[in-house]
Amino acid sequence: MSDEKKMVNMVKTQIGEEEINAVVEVLRSGMLAQGPKVAEFEKAFAEYIGVKHAIAVSSGTTALHIALMACGIHEGDEVITTPFSFIASANCALYAGALPVFADINPQTYNLDVTKIADAITGKTRAIVPVHLYGLPANMEDIVWLANRHGIAVIEDAAQAHGAEINGRKAGSFGDAACFSLYATKNMMTGEGGMITTNRDDVADAARMLRQHGMRVRYQHEMLGYNFRMTDIAGAIGLAQLAKLGEFNRRRIENAAHLSLLLKDWYVVPFIPDGYRHVFHQYTIRLPEGMDREALRARLKEAGFGSEVYYPIPIHMQATFLGEHGKGLFPVSEEAALRVLSLPIHPAVEKEDLDRMAEVLLSF
Ligand SMILES: *Cc1c(COP(=O)(O)O)cnc(C)c1O
Repeated sequence: MSDEKKMVNMVKTQIGEEEINAVVEVLRSGMLAQGPKVAEFEKAFAEYIGVKHAIAVSSGTTALHIALMACGIHEGDEVITTPFSFIASANCALYAGALPVFADINPQTYNLDVTKIADAITGKTRAIVPVHLYGLPANMEDIVWLANRHGIAVIEDAAQAHGAEINGRKAGSFGDAACFSLYATKNMMTGEGGMITTNRDDVADAARMLRQHGMRVRYQHEMLGYNFRMTDIAGAIGLAQLAKLGEFNRRRIENAAHLSLLLKDWYVVPFIPDGYRHVFHQYTIRLPEGMDREALRARLKEAGFGSEVYYPIPIHMQATFLGEHGKGLFPVSEEAALRVLSLPIHPAVEKEDLDRMAEVLLSF
């Protein structure tokens, strides 16, 4: 027996022969840039989400950047989003020249609180960017209703929610546009990559132009654009991953359910509203008040378990926003940032791993 302990990390990239063969096929074809594989991946992704269009791009961040622009967001506009997310959820407003305006979250779902969004709407508000944090869809019914009443756009940040649903309808099909990340750690991935989904022809058209230097016809540049294209290498990986996403998510959901059963009497476990399908990009518990999070993480690490805090500093308190001056503005997010802890439940985690992990958590 080796005395080296098996470490259960937060992420284990799921790469099989399918991905390897798909990449080799593209390499042998000699055509590596955006081409037939990307087109095939877009078509399959749009079908999976249940929307008219999917536009593949270089990352989730560039997806958000050009989705906002494609929805007409520009200088002087205000964009409402959550401070409890990855920073790209707010930076996309800045990229489009607009001002991010934060609204606090619901403490149970960690997603935007719709009454707080309503309070943040001004005459300059042009979009809401709800984030489906950890893989749980935001309250899209109320958010879309509110947005329609004010005539403003909804751009879903679905970077963590591939396959999540509300009453059988997929996250990424509710807004004017939605943005997925295909970064290496997400529920499905292409290494780096992103996808925009939309039912609006005008938004799809604008996004395709912005992705490719404002070109519809070769070397006719109709607007300022970028090079945010996806390669066919990434497209081929994405196709192979999409075929496995159902199984990946099934494993995550099963692991999450097992862990919640073990932990629910001692920790606040993830909340799943009726009719919602949470795909557990992260499995996140809330620690009892006063518990030493870093000490618990050290104990878990000793026992062979990774853990992580998503996210330790709310966006409004980041150095590029208000820093320490922002303290106190969004108390629900700030409290969550102090007490949440995410645990490994990815598809390669076994039931026995979860049992051992729960033992550590319950004996702390
Ligand atoms: C990962 C992520 C992004 C950014 O995606 P990248 O592909 O890393 O650029 C945006 N928003 C959220 C909520 C994310 O988790």
